Amino acid sequence: MHRILQDKSLFRPHCLINGLWCDAADKSVIEVTNPANGKLLGHVPNCGEAEARHAVESAHAAFEVWQAKSPQERGAYLHAWEQAIHANLEDLARLLTLEEGKPLAEARAEILQGASYFPWYAEEARRVSGEVVPTFRHGTQALTRHAPLGVAAAITPWNFPMSMIPRKVAPALAAGCTAIVKPAGATPYSALALAELAVRVGIPAGVFNVITGNAGAIGAVITSSPLVRKLSFTGSTPVGRKLAAQCGPTLKRVSLELGGNAPFIVFDDADLDQAAAMAMGNKFRNAGQTCICANRFLVHKDVLDAFVRRLLHGIRGLHVGDGLKADTTMGPLIDAGAVAHVDALVRDAQEKGACRVTGGQPHSLGGNFYEPTLLTGLRPEMRIFREEIFGPVAAVMSFESEEEAIALANDTEYGLASYVCTRDMARVWRLWQGLHFGMVGINDAALASAETPFGGVKGSGLGREGGREGLLEYMETHYALLGGLTQA
Ligand code: NAP
Repeated sequence: MHRILQDKSLFRPHCLINGLWCDAADKSVIEVTNPANGKLLGHVPNCGEAEARHAVESAHAAFEVWQAKSPQERGAYLHAWEQAIHANLEDLARLLTLEEGKPLAEARAEILQGASYFPWYAEEARRVSGEVVPTFRHGTQALTRHAPLGVAAAITPWNFPMSMIPRKVAPALAAGCTAIVKPAGATPYSALALAELAVRVGIPAGVFNVITGNAGAIGAVITSSPLVRKLSFTGSTPVGRKLAAQCGPTLKRVSLELGGNAPFIVFDDADLDQAAAMAMGNKFRNAGQTCICANRFLVHKDVLDAFVRRLLHGIRGLHVGDGLKADTTMGPLIDAGAVAHVDALVRDAQEKGACRVTGGQPHSLGGNFYEPTLLTGLRPEMRIFREEIFGPVAAVMSFESEEEAIALANDTEYGLASYVCTRDMARVWRLWQGLHFGMVGINDAALASAETPFGGVKGSGLGREGGREGLLEYMETHYALLGGLTQA
């Protein structure tokens, strides 16, 4: 791996706890492989309870000093961290592609998007003002201020390591919290490269810690420790539910960014070229392994054929391969289990009557590659209608009325992203109100930004990342009542 990097010290096979690079106490390790070819990239420490407790205590010890700094002082570190990311963009992109599989262009875009959370929150923390609340009783004044929660723990998934971690850590540190990150076992090197840059820009020891290893053991310590005051988790709904329950006894603040089952609704008045381009970018980015990618295409019956033709044209233009190759536009899935899951959903759909327009099986490249797939005849009784696909499969069904489209869209336990293609502004307003999702993209699917609140409802989770809301997730409101203010 490090032969491919210009700056080899960005490849860090150790955890960062209390400012020191360390291994598991028993020296055990976990393997990290390249999903494009199955080759071993390296090992990272297989930490467990003891190391997790050490990380929690280190973050707790660092909290007093860090939270006492001014927002400007904390912000200066975050600005420097962002600049260090920009300065190392190419190496970070190669590292991300090697461990995650996405094409280099997508890796670069993800890293820049992730980096954008640092300056946003560095500046936003300067504007978190309290209030003097209008008096409710003579002789008193009521005041509020926002204080950091304390130690914040983040457990992150493999699909966007370079944006998920900044999304959580930038607001946490800006607010005055200290952070512990447990990255996904499949993609720890991106997190550890971010840690290397944090050390370089002088972020004080204990303020940002990264611990790799046994998810259950580390998660148990993080969720049960009374010193950890916040858990921010991004990952699957079953694991999110479990972690939220584990946090119950210590009553810590919890944010959960969980799975999705996004409807992508195309009305008969939509600009179909624009809708198809939007669908391609949304559905096949990261080989369909995004929480906000369209899971169910609902297309008005009068434009179904025209939309499917355009989507097919887009799919034929995809170039599947190793993400490091310049002409690759779609990489592999993360592992063999992901390929088996996607294939099982496609088979189930076909058995229940879906028509295969293209794709529909593991790719001839072998390994973790799957063919970009287009199915029509999607029905609610198919697994693919209910379950997160997390793969490059576009499944399309038709509808006849707006009411039917809304009912189909809402027929899911999830509520993360939704999409609508239409030129009718009155309909846009009705759909924004009618769709039970945390986010709706109207004629545009690029939802995530540092400036806007990203998150879901129902089985897609709690809390928001990005925007003003994302900062307050790491703060609590303190209230003071001043009495005895009657005039002498
Ligand atoms: P996952 O299996 O839930 O894993 C996510 C993280 O949780 C990983 O770091 C994993 O560690 C850890 N983990 C697993 N079991 C745990 C346990 N018992 N205790 C503590 N930690 C545990 O999800 P994934 O497959 O990595 O990611 C895909 C899922 O994430 C999809 O459902 C996707 O929709 C969702 N996602 C949501 C958003 C959003 O913003 N809503 C964004 C991206 C992804 P190991 O890797 O070491 O097992």
